[in-house]
Amino acid sequence: MTTTRPSFTQIYMGLARSMSERSTCRRLNVGCVITTTDYRKVLAVGYNGNVSGGANDCDTHGEAAVGNCGCLHAEENAVINCDSPRGTPKLVFCTHLPCKMCAKRLVNLGGVHKVFYEAQYRLSESPAVFQAASIHVQQYAQVVSVAVGNAATANALRDLPSRIARLCRGRSELEHPDTADFVLGQLRMVVEALLTETEK
Ligand SMILES: [Zn+2]
Ligand SMILES: [Zn+2]
Repeated sequence: MTTTRPSFTQIYMGLARSMSERSTCRRLNVGCVITTTDYRKVLAVGYNGNVSGGANDCDTHGEAAVGNCGCLHAEENAVINCDSPRGTPKLVFCTHLPCKMCAKRLVNLGGVHKVFYEAQYRLSESPAVFQAASIHVQQYAQVVSVAVGNAATANALRDLPSRIARLCRGRSELEHPDTADFVLGQLRMVVEALLTETEK
């Protein structure tokens, strides 16, 4: 028996990350997965990008595109794709902290118990929206370091450089605020993992 069996949270966060690789947004690649609370069913997935059948590109570029690139958000697409009843208890896995409007969409989807996210986002207004709706929101780093333990933490650390390289591929805008936010989020995750390690 292996002792490094991945948790469901790890698996679905990994799926959210894989979905983000399909994103066609130039600004940020985001993925989202909605599952049942018993982890038995994936109810919907989404990634950010333009309208189905439209250009595989943002509508606007450069400074004008900040917060207005024309792409539908990953969480927004996952909500659109989710045909499960409101009463079905749900978990949401996001590569990034959802924006305020996506938090509202997730509240209105109904049945969302908890939202896991990996990296911080440019904006951080959504936790208040979730909290007002009694939806728990947790950064995945805490789950990795506390619940999964040393082996997973070590794996996360080992994967980090290639993951950052993969997510930044084809991007010249390393100085870009969103990319900087992402790198910061990843570094924060490493620091939290190391802190937990040293507390053991
Ligand atoms: Zn875009
Ligand atoms: Zn959003």
